[in-house]
Amino acid sequence: ATPTAIMVGTGQGARAGMLVKNAEALELAERIAVLAVDKTGTLTEGRPALTDVEPAAEWTRARLLGVAAALEQGSAHPIAAAVVAAAKAEAAALPAAAAVRAVGGMGVEGRVEMDGASRAVLLGAPRLLAGRGVALPAATGEALAAAGRTLVAVAVDGVFAGLLGVADRVRADSAAAVARLQAKGVRVVMLTGDHPATAAAIAAQTGIAEWHAGVLPADKAAAVAALRDGRTLAAEAEPGPAGGGQPAETAGGEERSRGKGHVGMAGDGINDAPALAAADVSFAIGVGADVAVEAADITLVRNSLHGVADAIDLSRATLAKIR
Ligand code: ADP
Ligand code: MG
Repeated sequence: ATPTAIMVGTGQGARAGMLVKNAEALELAERIAVLAVDKTGTLTEGRPALTDVEPAAEWTRARLLGVAAALEQGSAHPIAAAVVAAAKAEAAALPAAAAVRAVGGMGVEGRVEMDGASRAVLLGAPRLLAGRGVALPAATGEALAAAGRTLVAVAVDGVFAGLLGVADRVRADSAAAVARLQAKGVRVVMLTGDHPATAAAIAAQTGIAEWHAGVLPADKAAAVAALRDGRTLAAEAEPGPAGGGQPAETAGGEERSRGKGHVGMAGDGINDAPALAAADVSFAIGVGADVAVEAADITLVRNSLHGVADAIDLSRATLAKIR
């Protein structure tokens, strides 16, 4: 492509809310055949609110919320902000926390002062706790997850202390944007670190037929690489529905006529930087996630997945001028 046409296209993109950092991305966008999308902050608003507090026996709502919020104060994840805000709104006492660190993009751990003792607290996705040998009551949170809630399980000194439910609204235009991409022949695949039942609920709400849940941040990059190679994604990625891995229905021959397809990735940045870097064309969506903006080729300042479809249209129009 001529530099002039690309420069013009980049300028048009900027006016339409697409900040193109990498000019090559503008050339490649029209050939996106598969788009991997993150869930939290990408399909959803990324401003979750705490909706449920279910303390285990021996625990009260206030104590469970206090201990969770004490730890979450040390986390930058949007879920953390929801837990801290709810605890403050309920004036739950926040005990002192120390040595707080993120664990594998699935939660946080640290130490919290309670009743004069320092106690080990671990919270996050139920599978994180299960993987650390914490016994969870059968069917913990299944109903909440089926309703699209993200589950935050809490363990204190290795014992289950209760469950929190967090709701994050699907962006109002996510379903329309997914439909628009699918009409262009783009296969949309959701990659999320969340629980399979939560993933299924959000996929259903947005019209996404193919999704993979329980995907750790590092595995999201591997999943993008697998999509680039045309490989089926690893089974441990908890594919859905039933067996998963099947391509979403596409609108027809448009994808094939564009030749070898590229893989795009849209993410909000929290935990997504490696996956964005692994894609042929990457899009950052959502506010304030500096990590994603740095890793992404194109930043969608309007925080809408329509920006990906717009970028494909712009790419096509820009290249049409050159050909
Ligand atoms: P997504 O793939 O939906 O964007 P993330 O990869 O950011 O989500 O996180 C995956 C999962 O890890 C979340 O759904 C949540 O269960 C858990 N998790 C990560 N960080 C935290 C945290 N600070 N507090 C509670 N849960 C967390
Ligand atoms: Mg996210």
